[in-house]
Amino acid sequence: MVTEDVRVRLLDGSLKNHPNCLAGIYKGYNLIIKQIDTGMLFSFNASSEYDKNYEAIKTFLAQKSETEGKIQTYHAEENTIQVVLPPELETEDQIEFSNRMVDEIVEFLRRNYYNNCCSYCGKAEEPLHCFEISNEYYYICDACSHQIKESLQNAANQKSNFVLGVIGAILGSMIGCSLWLIIYKLGYIAGIAGAAMGICAMKGYGLFGKKLDRKGVIVSAIVMLIMVFLSNRLALSWEVYDALNGYGFPTSFADIFINLGDLIKELNLTSDYYTDLVVGYALTIFCSASSICEAFSYSDSTNYSMNKME
Ligand SMILES: [Zn+2]
Repeated sequence: MVTEDVRVRLLDGSLKNHPNCLAGIYKGYNLIIKQIDTGMLFSFNASSEYDKNYEAIKTFLAQKSETEGKIQTYHAEENTIQVVLPPELETEDQIEFSNRMVDEIVEFLRRNYYNNCCSYCGKAEEPLHCFEISNEYYYICDACSHQIKESLQNAANQKSNFVLGVIGAILGSMIGCSLWLIIYKLGYIAGIAGAAMGICAMKGYGLFGKKLDRKGVIVSAIVMLIMVFLSNRLALSWEVYDALNGYGFPTSFADIFINLGDLIKELNLTSDYYTDLVVGYALTIFCSASSICEAFSYSDSTNYSMNKME
């Protein structure tokens, strides 16, 4: 991840260079350094019987963050303490700052009886190994590595229940449909509700079908597109229903919904109807595309990776 020149100057050269991280043990604590969008993420494995909620270390980091200013964020829970420092590790100053920060954190951990531990089960005194799991890095014990591997394999082998999944997707999309009607009633074209239909359909598929696989994402997207069409018709039917009743033409909502095609022509609403529909579809696709693409790539759980870093 860094040049050999930087590596040897950082933390006495105690970390090993990997393609996407630096990892190793420094003064008794396992540490991983990784570049993220906001800076350099330093992850320590540590837990303490005397500070189960990590209040002490959080207070310490909050103070550090105030006095040093260069600490972007920090986070401490579940066997892991993370600190984000500025993004560059090149100049003498930057390396010196990182070295000093890590030294101060490690010193605090040592003085407050934090143990180096497995980042998954929290057990101390087990030999730890660095694993890359779907592009994230963790120091975990052997027992946990076997357990994680098994559950990833089980997840990859699990099949979704298609019929229940489709029912779930339809039920989920109805939430978005109600939202569409409410927003339409307020006088707007409800593209954002179209995206909500897609997201709720995917959630529904996952919940009822036990797993949101690629099939599920495709079905949810189709359900979303159909529901946009139906919601738009329902919304307009509702408007026509209110208008006709307002003018004293008693009629049923079902009649209007079924005969909406003829009514649109008779009432000269053709261009309104199609404008709402096209804009509704465009907004729906615009708002939902990234969530659907993300779900699509994430749903390929056979795609997981788990490698022991040597
Ligand atoms: Zn463990």
